[in-house]
Amino acid sequence: MEPFDPTIHPHRRYNPLTNTHILVSPHRTKRPWLGQTEPAEPSNLPQYDPTCFLCPGNTRAGGQVNEMYTSTMVFENDYAAVLPPPGPVTPPAAHPLLTAESIQGGCDVICFHPRHDLSLPTLSLLDVENIVDEWTRVYMRRGTEPGIEYVQIFENKGAMMGCSNPHPHSQVWSLSTVPTLPAKELASLHKYASTTHVRPGVATGPDGHACLLCEYVHHELSVPEDEGRVVITNEHFVALVPWWAYWPFEIMVLPHKRHISSLVHLTVDEKHAFADIMSRVTKRYDNIFSCSFAYAMGVHQRPLPPRRDDDGMYVQDADDIAHLHVHFEPPLLRSASVRKFLAGFEVMAEPQRDLTAEQAAKRLRNCSEVHYLLAAE
Ligand SMILES: [Zn+2]
Ligand SMILES: [Zn+2]
Ligand SMILES: [Zn+2]
Repeated sequence: MEPFDPTIHPHRRYNPLTNTHILVSPHRTKRPWLGQTEPAEPSNLPQYDPTCFLCPGNTRAGGQVNEMYTSTMVFENDYAAVLPPPGPVTPPAAHPLLTAESIQGGCDVICFHPRHDLSLPTLSLLDVENIVDEWTRVYMRRGTEPGIEYVQIFENKGAMMGCSNPHPHSQVWSLSTVPTLPAKELASLHKYASTTHVRPGVATGPDGHACLLCEYVHHELSVPEDEGRVVITNEHFVALVPWWAYWPFEIMVLPHKRHISSLVHLTVDEKHAFADIMSRVTKRYDNIFSCSFAYAMGVHQRPLPPRRDDDGMYVQDADDIAHLHVHFEPPLLRSASVRKFLAGFEVMAEPQRDLTAEQAAKRLRNCSEVHYLLAAE
């Protein structure tokens, strides 16, 4: 029997963050690339849209008028998914199988920029740094409100992701409980720290404990580029297609030099590097199919910002096992108009993909960082 080759033979990959598996069927990509390629499409968005709820000076659904903002703008979502405390107490369960818990919190919208037609890949690096600063401020503000246990920063980009407005913006949902996915990831990080020996030369989590993501990123950077999953790196951050990626061009962005548990802990240099890699990743995304590349993006970090002691220093606690990272989960597969759909097997059994993480990483490495709209000018 021929030896196992992950670029040919079907296999399952393990996701140690969520303790799940994905079925990989690389033999199905041996056929030539049959997907259509779309020609570059011009951006037809206006710089200002009088009907947009997020453009400066316009009136929102709730009747409030947006200020004439010049950088970022934050406001509370007019249609929030959760409501501020106090909330009513849930009644006892009618049956132990039918439990519910009440949840409170708040939902904020962060406009990235006054220009309606720009987005992360076309905003300047300074603009992206302003966005990182705004995320950090909202994380600090919401994360210190009474009753809040978790703050999730995320962006839905593109109609394909159900985003109703192309004006560049993200959201922050603050909740009275830690939701499912980050709770799973944090549990995995804690378990790894308590059961794994640190390997020499690898960065560690708090108190010298092993960090799952410090270990993972260290390994990924040791793989020869041609065979590996790394897309780009800079001084402090790496963008890679994770071994266990589910979406065709899924990317994880994470710091590789030291263990960083939240946005609050970034030095000025690290923040600059973070903005740089976010800008470069999204430029490559838009350039894959010469389109505005839809995705769901989210920041995973400490559930809440750290407390400060009397001297203003951050107090270390168990949550510092969190290793700051960003997930980009884009649905496009073959072209600007061909997306991945959840097939029956995936809904009923297990996630599955054909294109391997290594093939996706190679494709992304070959993309330019000059945005296609600028290259076409
Ligand atoms: Zn707008
Ligand atoms: Zn770490
Ligand atoms: Zn995560």
